[in-house]
Amino acid sequence: MTAQIIDGKAFAASVREKVTGHVNRLKEENGITPGLAVVLVGEDPASQVYVRSKGKQTVEVGMNSFEHKLDVDTPETELLTLIDKLNNDRDVHGILVQLPLPDHMNADKVINAIAPEKDVDGFHISNVGLLGTGQKSMVPCTPLGSLMMLRDHLGSLSGKDAVVIGRSNIVGKPMAQLLLGESCTVTIAHSRTKDLPDVVRRADIVIAAVGRPEMVPGDWIKPGATVIDVGINRIERNGKNILVGDVDFASAKDVAGAITPVPGGVGPMTIACLLANTVTACCRANGLSEPE
Ligand code: NDP
Repeated sequence: MTAQIIDGKAFAASVREKVTGHVNRLKEENGITPGLAVVLVGEDPASQVYVRSKGKQTVEVGMNSFEHKLDVDTPETELLTLIDKLNNDRDVHGILVQLPLPDHMNADKVINAIAPEKDVDGFHISNVGLLGTGQKSMVPCTPLGSLMMLRDHLGSLSGKDAVVIGRSNIVGKPMAQLLLGESCTVTIAHSRTKDLPDVVRRADIVIAAVGRPEMVPGDWIKPGATVIDVGINRIERNGKNILVGDVDFASAKDVAGAITPVPGGVGPMTIACLLANTVTACCRANGLSEPE
């Protein structure tokens, strides 16, 4: 059996097209242009690439992009002052502070300084609590994109066994909450999990969010399972720098029913969901009905 490849790039393009339609309507019917502010502290190369890509795509869907680049040694108070200014800026509907932050800053304090209704990353403690209690919230982009692909591929997820490998606040935990919300039976695995291969073998849905190149081989996968590979790992192979996921794609694709590739799977969906969250935040801020 060869798995169906879930094309995150094409899916993300369709999400961006919908976002563009909503942005055009907001402009034409309400005279409002959604705006996303992205704050980058320091010069981490991967973060610079992400921020550039976010800014470019924000403009491409017709929204305003506000980029704020701060020196690596900027005092935390200065960042908090900027966030306060963005919280009170009516043209800014979404605020994203690119992580990781330099060591002298307290990421929790910074994230929780963002107004929850503008927290398009969904990391503010209020949004975490709302998601955990099944209330309307801002949903973190990577888990949201993963869920959209799962729903599109499987339809109802109700009753399915799902294993999430990884329990980070930005991917594993919110992913598990979303799957629970879809009535999956959810197992969250992590570095202390015993018999991980057997745990994964039980799953109809496998979400790998670990950060270890090709850690999950095909013989851990239940035949026909749907595999979402969140991992982005840069490795050297045959003298070339390449990106691989947390799943060994070569062996897993012969067992799984469907699988996301790396690159071209979850990655493109993450930014598309960020844009969608910004439109949602803009609609909520203006008392307008929000996109589905
Ligand atoms: P973290 O490092 O924050 O979390 C990794 C998790 O994996 C931890 O919960 C850890 O367990 C668990 N883990 C580590 N080793 C093992 C092991 N041997 N067996 C089982 N579990 C293990 O990573 P993130 O959640 O931030 O990211 C995970 C991956 O997803 C990374 O590759 C990252 O680059 C990628 N990513 C991709 C995004 C995208 O847009 N596609 C967005 C965000 C992340 P423990 O808690 O016990 O330490």
